[in-house]
Amino acid sequence: MSLRVFNTLTRQKEVFVPIAAPAVGFYTCGPTVYDFAHLGNFRAYVAEDLIKRYLIYRGFQVRHVMNITDIDDKTIRKAQSEKQPLNVITDRYIHAFHQDLNTLNILPADIFPRATEHIPQMQAMVDALLQRGHAYRQDNSVYFRISSFPDYGRLSNLNPENLQSGRSVDSDEYDKENARDFVLWKGYRENEPWWDYHAGRGRPGWHLECSAMSMAYLGNHFDIHMGGVDNIFPHHENEIAQAECASGEPFVNYWLHVQHLIVDNEKMSKSLGNFFTLRDLVTKGHDPLSIRYLLLSTHYRKLLNFTFTALDQADRTRKRLQDFLFSLEAREFPAGETPGFKSEVAEWEQRFRNEMDDDFNVSGALGVLFEFIHAANRRLETLLKQDIREIRETIARVNSVLGVIREPETEALAPELEALVRERERARAAKDFQRADALRDKLEKSGIQLIDTPDGVKWKVIDSP
Ligand code: AMP
Ligand code: ZN
Repeated sequence: MSLRVFNTLTRQKEVFVPIAAPAVGFYTCGPTVYDFAHLGNFRAYVAEDLIKRYLIYRGFQVRHVMNITDIDDKTIRKAQSEKQPLNVITDRYIHAFHQDLNTLNILPADIFPRATEHIPQMQAMVDALLQRGHAYRQDNSVYFRISSFPDYGRLSNLNPENLQSGRSVDSDEYDKENARDFVLWKGYRENEPWWDYHAGRGRPGWHLECSAMSMAYLGNHFDIHMGGVDNIFPHHENEIAQAECASGEPFVNYWLHVQHLIVDNEKMSKSLGNFFTLRDLVTKGHDPLSIRYLLLSTHYRKLLNFTFTALDQADRTRKRLQDFLFSLEAREFPAGETPGFKSEVAEWEQRFRNEMDDDFNVSGALGVLFEFIHAANRRLETLLKQDIREIRETIARVNSVLGVIREPETEALAPELEALVRERERARAAKDFQRADALRDKLEKSGIQLIDTPDGVKWKVIDSP
């Protein structure tokens, strides 16, 4: 079966055929670094991560570029209000962003280009648009003439009646009813950072940043571009116009958009003030991997309503997966292999793949996974060592896509806890079981549960009592 993805551009599921398989060029709109990213932003980033991980699992070689918007209206306003240089503000939130990606087990992009480091590429693009007659100067700024691009509005299904070419808009964000000639290069304004340019010193518009940086690293024409649904108009519509008019080539083959995370039926956003940051939730004691599980377990094109009840439920469900794996580690199975078991497990994995091949139907895929675990659990008494290895390897592959199970061996314990584990092992070796049990209790109070396995002692993180 082939992978099918829902393309916003054509409004249907299409078979995914990369331009130069197995290579896949993959661009996702990154954060505007004027504050901590909130959970709504992370819904988009986690959904993109799931899709990227599945492409990798499917054998594609993904080249992932995620931009960092470190200059725009919002970052400038924040720097002004804090009376700090722009880069002090943006460096702070870039650092926090990378920490948060790591907390949520999101694979880093191959390249995180910063807008302020790509001004020459942006200016070259404005030059090309001026030369080809798609842009004009007005005051000290440069605008894109939307009437010069017949495809304008195709991505967002814009009503042609709303196209107001000849009238310009300076701000980066505006609604569909106000589709106008948008700004490419913003002429200098007092107290704003600026760069020299022949049309007048100034700074890039936000939409220009993404076109220039994606093409700088993925070429004029690449495979997948993603972002949240709020990016469809005007951001991505404008990106297409700039890119295709500057290069004369098609820009992106597949546009994928992530639906919103909502709270009480409203989009979670900074401007509405109804947001949580990842840090808020982690500080309250929520397990980051359970937050990840919650964010990815609803299909990316469906609204996700955030509630704490749903988060607790996600936590319990995720732990079932984790506990199943630990239960396999904690016991010895007789040597050997059950005839036919390997192909049975392969069939389960194929079913997981079939679901994910259908536009990343994660709910179906998780359903298959839990059925599999359930079935395996029922037969656990009869299974043999090689069967268990098959199960573990399959779940590890599935988890390379989901990223929600903690692998017990991969984490290093804090040195003081490590010392307690070793001390307990010495006590056990000396048959001082009272002491060993006291140390086990002590570790449990620190949130570490020990599992004595045939391969030695392992451990997992538990909620401290
Ligand atoms: P921003 O920093 O506002 O440019 O947003 C970064 C990414 O997060 C974009 O892809 C947005 O579409 C996405 N985003 C923002 N708010 C939400 C939300 N409530 N739910 C899902 N994605 C969101
Ligand atoms: Zn973008």
